[in-house]
Amino acid sequence: MSANILVVMEQRNGAWNRMSFETLAAGQQLAEQLGGACSAAVVGHGIDVLAKDLGNKKVGTTYIVDHILLNEYTADGYTAALEQLVREAKPDLVLFPHTYQVRDFAPKLATRFGQVLVSDVTGFHVDAGVPVFVRQLFQGKLNADVKATGDAPHFASLQAGAFRADQVADGMSSSETFPVVLGDSVIRAKPHEPFRESARAVDLTAADIIVSVGRGIKEKDNIHIVEELAKALGAELAASRPICDSGWLPMERQVGSSGQTVSPKVYMAVGISGAIQHLVGMKGAKTIVAINKDANAPIFEVADYGIVGDLFEVVPALVEEVKKVRGA
Ligand SMILES: Cc1cc2nc3c(=O)[nH]c(=O)nc-3n(C[C@H](O)[C@H](O)[C@H](O)COP(=O)(O)OP(=O)(O)OC[C@H]3O[C@@H](n4cnc5c(N)ncnc54)[C@H](O)[C@@H]3O)c2cc1C
Repeated sequence: MSANILVVMEQRNGAWNRMSFETLAAGQQLAEQLGGACSAAVVGHGIDVLAKDLGNKKVGTTYIVDHILLNEYTADGYTAALEQLVREAKPDLVLFPHTYQVRDFAPKLATRFGQVLVSDVTGFHVDAGVPVFVRQLFQGKLNADVKATGDAPHFASLQAGAFRADQVADGMSSSETFPVVLGDSVIRAKPHEPFRESARAVDLTAADIIVSVGRGIKEKDNIHIVEELAKALGAELAASRPICDSGWLPMERQVGSSGQTVSPKVYMAVGISGAIQHLVGMKGAKTIVAINKDANAPIFEVADYGIVGDLFEVVPALVEEVKKVRGA
């Protein structure tokens, strides 16, 4: 069975979301395996210039879905516009980057076709000509294979970092403006100023060594235990999301899909399970060391060195050894 794929790329104010190219690479690879073609779409207003970035990529057609009412993102506008495009272009599969915006409108779009969105996909394989999507369950402890059933089109969103943007294949592409029909009455929401992250005081991206702490630390008063390890190693202290959400460390120290993406020489994950949202922010580290009392924790799948043990015993012992070696 051949299948044609449409990748919906995301832009804001004329700048690409980097995850769009990860999704495009995945779309090209899947189209290749299914013997189909991969097209792309970009939605907004005054976005012709973006289509040029795809001119030398292996993309069948780049659809420019342009309308004044799409200048600002609304779920109603994007759903109506993409519904028209999907009905006209008739792809078998529509892929999205798993961004906050996509989470907002893509399930609604899928519903218009009597389908669901297979969300948060971290991989795929092809089984008897049919794409099978991989999703994580139970904080990454299980991988589930998911097949879309029913008539095409099917819809899936791909997790950040699951595919590599630098693997987008070069080739030829043509672009065409899709004549979308939209009226004011379609758009019921009034967009406000978009949320902006506060400026970061800590730049984890520049750190050579990072010691990162997770929920295994149990309570705020124990943070000093990993802080001492970071100090002994001359490392920056970072954390998984629950630690920052609880206010035990500032948000700017969070690593992961909604925090910073880091690639230090050494990343020590202490009491961190290794959920995909954390992994995408640190799996580019040159050497990963994990300390976790659960030998089956997913963090060990990406770790170069692993210590299965209780961090409350392991970390103080490590601090002592590091101090000895450094003569401190
Ligand atoms: C939209 C979205 C965005 C997200 N963004 C991020 C993000 O940017 N960054 C992020 O980190 N998460 C993010 N998450 C959350 C993510 O899914 C996980 O919930 C989170 O990473 C888990 O943090 P953790 O590993 O510290 O905690 P847990 O998953 O609870 O793991 C704690 C680990 O500590 C181990 N442990 C317990 N006691 C000890 C001990 N005494 N010694 C040694 N090990 C011990 C346990 O075995 C366990 O593996 C996001 C989730 C969503 C839905």
